[in-house]
Amino acid sequence: MDYSIIAEAYEAMSQTTKRLELTSILVDLLKKTPKELVDKVVYLTQGKLYPDYMGVEIGVAEKLAMRALSMVSGASQEKVAETFQKLGDIGLVAEALLKNKVQTTLFSKPLTVEDVYATFERMAKTSGEGSIDIKLRNLSRLLNDATPLEAKYIVRMVTGQLRLGIADYTVLDALAIAYTDDKANRPILERAYNLSSDLGLVAKTVALKGLRGLEEFKIQVGRPIRPMLAERLESAEEILNKLEGKAAAEYKLDGERLQIHKQGDKVILFSRRLENITHHYPDAIKLVNESVKVNDGILEAEVVAINIDTGEYLPFQELMHRRRKYGIEEAMKQYPIALNFFDLLYANGEEYVTKPYVERRKRLEEIIVEMERVKLVPTIIATKPEEIERFMEQAITDGCEGLVIKDLNSIYRAGAREFAWIKLKREYRVELSDTIDLVIVGAFYGKGRRAGKYGTFLLAAYDKETDEFKTACKIGTGFTDEDLDYFPKLLDPYKIPHKHARVDSKIDADVWFLPKIVIETIAAEITLSPIHTCGLDRIRKGSGLALRFPKYTGRLRDDKDPEDATTVDEIVEIYRKQLKRIEEKPSE
Ligand code: ATP
Repeated sequence: MDYSIIAEAYEAMSQTTKRLELTSILVDLLKKTPKELVDKVVYLTQGKLYPDYMGVEIGVAEKLAMRALSMVSGASQEKVAETFQKLGDIGLVAEALLKNKVQTTLFSKPLTVEDVYATFERMAKTSGEGSIDIKLRNLSRLLNDATPLEAKYIVRMVTGQLRLGIADYTVLDALAIAYTDDKANRPILERAYNLSSDLGLVAKTVALKGLRGLEEFKIQVGRPIRPMLAERLESAEEILNKLEGKAAAEYKLDGERLQIHKQGDKVILFSRRLENITHHYPDAIKLVNESVKVNDGILEAEVVAINIDTGEYLPFQELMHRRRKYGIEEAMKQYPIALNFFDLLYANGEEYVTKPYVERRKRLEEIIVEMERVKLVPTIIATKPEEIERFMEQAITDGCEGLVIKDLNSIYRAGAREFAWIKLKREYRVELSDTIDLVIVGAFYGKGRRAGKYGTFLLAAYDKETDEFKTACKIGTGFTDEDLDYFPKLLDPYKIPHKHARVDSKIDADVWFLPKIVIETIAAEITLSPIHTCGLDRIRKGSGLALRFPKYTGRLRDDKDPEDATTVDEIVEIYRKQLKRIEEKPSE
């Protein structure tokens, strides 16, 4: 397959601002792709070589790409740097320089997708001494054979700046249309995706084996399952009503979620975002091998830092010491952890995701041998709101955030946030003191002490229905001086020349970003707003919803993808609840 087909599709994608158009360009691209290659084309289109959980990056720095461009185009390094200064985008630099290159057609041949992908793979796999040379040589060879348009996308890809904005859901839609002729089949594809977290694999399966192939899709140890998520409600009573009067209430521990894959004594740990974080917790691996009594299994647990002297749970922040490359041994001693199991997805060849909660929990209790630092999450079966409330108080006293109340009959709904799991946190019942996680989509330059830096940021909630980000506030409070220095470094790699296609905003920011960085905020309340697009027309025609007095809590939610931010639906729901509470208050 000619790589030019891909480059042309990318060019068309980067020129549209409409999601439907993006989908249809992708459908056309898939239709032109030989079926054996479709997985690779899907990965490439999302700027990857493999599924995310494999954590592979090509890892070419802009500087190195500039060296390759200088070698291939014949332009001096100074000229390349100057062009970069002017255009501000390495892809545009490649395109411009190769347009001027002295013709070497005699020695170049058209690029194929197979060749480009294999070369990217070679570059990703080299490491250590000599790897820079290998990357430079491979990249130069590709650029030598590339047309200016191809070079633009090759360079963006290797430097991790492809940014076509093709979200997982867009790919699933496109696959359903391209290979089953019907977008309504998307749930079948989505199921396979939720069980494998691998869009390329889903793509190849549907392309080669059709819907039947997807239906036969199996869980595999080592391939992460997309996590089941919790909805929220405010009172025990509401929750019990929703769950038909009977439910399991579990402690909601404030740690880090682990999806634990065990095969013999080999253990892999995936984070909530399904990154491989095995190296953060060598001690957890030992604990798993001591306490989990199945040969093959996929289990979920909350890992929590504990005070080894008292056994008390410590706040989430204490786990941050584990996120480092060196000194893990030291961190293990100073900040010991405990594992608290809450679910079982697979055991010894048997899938548990399709079994109801009670059955999963029963089997989990059989499989886990509890010990000092390995427990099952405390649970009760409740039929009365008072039982839940009492258990809640106990959980809070024990250092938990609240409870997760679970539908006894629900299967494990991978990748879904539904009312089969409902979180209950104490604060909801008093005021809006729960935090809201929002995505940074734009920024405004600051004044005074913030001159020359970003002074405020434009934040958005995720709208699941339209797969867009809708603005919910501007925020400038809560940032320390260090934050203000750090944020440009964090955000500038995601800077884009205009508002992103998936961002819906009535406000014009000074600078726009690819929706990527999620931050935790806290606000006094939610109000109607004529200028924000979050929940537009949902409460009142012409008005959206905005956070009032928003403040950055200091916590970057780098464990969340932008699609995991608080949703528009959740904000609308919180607003409605808040209104109800105000109405219910006796007038003073
Ligand atoms: P998200 O729901 O998107 O993960 P979040 O990261 O803000 O949002 P919460 O919504 O507050 O987290 O709670 C869900 C998280 O609670 C789970 O991802 C898990 O890490 C944690 N948790 C703690 N105890 C339990 C439990 N007993 N059952 C399920 N999840 C639990």
